[in-house]
Amino acid sequence: MKRSIERIFQRPAQPGMVGDGFRVFNMIPGKGISQKRMSPFLLLDFNAAFDFGPSDHIRGVDVHPHKGFETVTIAYKGSVAHHDSSGNSGIIRPGDVQWMTAGAGILHKEYHEEEFSKKGGLFEMVQLWVNLPAKDKSTPAHYQGITSDQMGKVVLPDAGGVVNVIAGTFQDTTGPASTYTPINLFDIKLEEQHETSFMVPQNHNTGMLVVNGEVVVNGEVAGEHSFVLFDHDGEEISIRANKNAVLLVLSGEPIDEPIASYGPFVMNTQAEIYQAFEDFQAGKFGVLE
Ligand code: MN
Repeated sequence: MKRSIERIFQRPAQPGMVGDGFRVFNMIPGKGISQKRMSPFLLLDFNAAFDFGPSDHIRGVDVHPHKGFETVTIAYKGSVAHHDSSGNSGIIRPGDVQWMTAGAGILHKEYHEEEFSKKGGLFEMVQLWVNLPAKDKSTPAHYQGITSDQMGKVVLPDAGGVVNVIAGTFQDTTGPASTYTPINLFDIKLEEQHETSFMVPQNHNTGMLVVNGEVVVNGEVAGEHSFVLFDHDGEEISIRANKNAVLLVLSGEPIDEPIASYGPFVMNTQAEIYQAFEDFQAGKFGVLE
C-alpha cells in the first residue's frame, strides 16, 4: 500500500552559517517537524549548491565537541576534510559519506578540503544527526568512511538513474553503513521522465529531501529543495522525475526515549547534559589542536 504524504515543506527562506564554510538550510527540526517526529533523525542541515569562490583562507568550522549521537556527512559537490580527537582524519569527496559515531564524546573540526578551497567551486552537502539509543550513547567514538564505490548500487532500468544505498535495503540491495537502530538512507539519482519505487517499513519515520530537480512522489509534486514528510499508513514510495533529480531518502525506526538536547550534546535527561558539559570542560573528550 502507498504511503500518504503528511506534508511537503519548503526550505527556510534564509540559510544559516555553520562556521564560515557551511551555508545550510535547516530542514530538521523545523516548524511541524520536531526531533521526536523524525526520530531517530535529530537534524538535517542542507548546504544547497553554493559557489564559495576561491579562497586562501580555508573555510569551515573549528574544533567542537559532539556526544550521544552520530553525524552523517554526505558530500555531493566539493570536498570536506575532517580531523578528530581520536587521531582520525580524512577527506569526504563527492559521492562519499562519513558516518561518525560521537557516542561517549569526541572533538572534531570540519572544513573545505584545501585544494577545493583554493580553487573554489560549487559546494553541496548534507549533514544528518542520528540519535543513539540510551544503551549505546557511551559507545567509544569511531567513524565509518564510506566511499562512493563501496555503496550498494542499484542501476535503474533503461538508463533511468542509479541508487546508492548508504544504509539499509533498497529493493533487495543492502548498503554498507552499520547502524545502531534500523535505518535506510538512499542517495537516488533519477533521470527526467523515469521512475522507481521501493518499500520502507511502515513504522519508520520517513522523509525525502529533493537535493536537485523536481519529482512526483506518491502523486504529489515535490520541487527543488523541498522536504517530503511521509505518514505511517503504508510502505510503498513511488517517484517519477519531472526533471533530472537527486534525492535523499531517510527512514528509521523511532527511538522511543526522551530527548534532552543542548547544542552538540544529545542525551536522555537534563542531568546527563550537565554531566556531558562537565566532562567536556574537564577535557574528557580528548585533545585536538
Ligand atoms: Mn561537527
